[in-house]
Amino acid sequence: MEMWVKESQIGDAVMTYKVKETLVRKKTKYQDLAIVDTYALGRMLLLDGIVQTTINDEYVYHEMITHIPLFTHPNPKKVLVVGGGDGGTIREILKHTSVEKAVLCEIDEDVIKECKKYLPEISCALDDPRCEIFIGDGIKYVHEHKNEFDVVIVDSTDPFGAAEGLFGGSFYKEIFNCLTEDGIFVAQTETPFYLPNQVKQIYDDAKEAFPITKIFMAAIPTYPSGYWSFTIGSKKHDPENADLSKVPNLNTRYYTKKLHKASFVLPKYVEDLLK
Ligand code: SAM
Repeated sequence: MEMWVKESQIGDAVMTYKVKETLVRKKTKYQDLAIVDTYALGRMLLLDGIVQTTINDEYVYHEMITHIPLFTHPNPKKVLVVGGGDGGTIREILKHTSVEKAVLCEIDEDVIKECKKYLPEISCALDDPRCEIFIGDGIKYVHEHKNEFDVVIVDSTDPFGAAEGLFGGSFYKEIFNCLTEDGIFVAQTETPFYLPNQVKQIYDDAKEAFPITKIFMAAIPTYPSGYWSFTIGSKKHDPENADLSKVPNLNTRYYTKKLHKASFVLPKYVEDLLK
């Protein structure tokens, strides 16, 4: 019998993937968690039926959400990841030798546990001594830590359930206060193709909190439309004009210095949306 995963993140559009094997399926305290092995994309993490990451394309998302802010900041030492329980963002952060400490604040410890077991290629750096794992709500964590992090990365699920409060003006203002004086914030912020209003709202909210606010894009095959936005808010350093002359080779597969700048070049419909 053929088994297929059907993901309908965007109302009337559906993506389907042929499944080789279901590795784990459970209800956690917060969500329905599944890790399945697929023919097209290898092992895949789904939360509440939404694809979070896959072995075959995870590098695009994790490299872009990490290296754009970390190579924009001249000396990132302390980094916070809100969400990100699969560990891919931590793996990329710890490639930066300037980083002394990377805190992962994930609400659902089962995500970490199952990703360590079934997605070791992604979660491999979670036991690194520079990584500190905190199980709890990112909203509360950010509120309780002021002027502490050089970079805050919001690597969250979509804006529903526990992640709802991770999008929006009041949270972005809290992040501003959680950052050091030249700190940088970045978040995954959905697809402008299917969700233009949501992307615009996030951008406007971030703009109220940060003097420099920009959107950059990446081509992520498993996310709806394949074309995904990230919103970056910065107190001082402009990510588009970052000095990349000393960027070392981190053996990336998607991020390059040229792409760093190019990812801020937006198609006309996105430019118009942000006006
Ligand atoms: N790359 C992914 C994507 O965009 O689909 C996100 C991956 S990561 C698995 C997202 C994580 O955010 C989930 O493990 C979820 O439990 C966590 N999360 C959701 N709301 C949270 C909150 N309020 N505080 C901390 N973590 C949260």
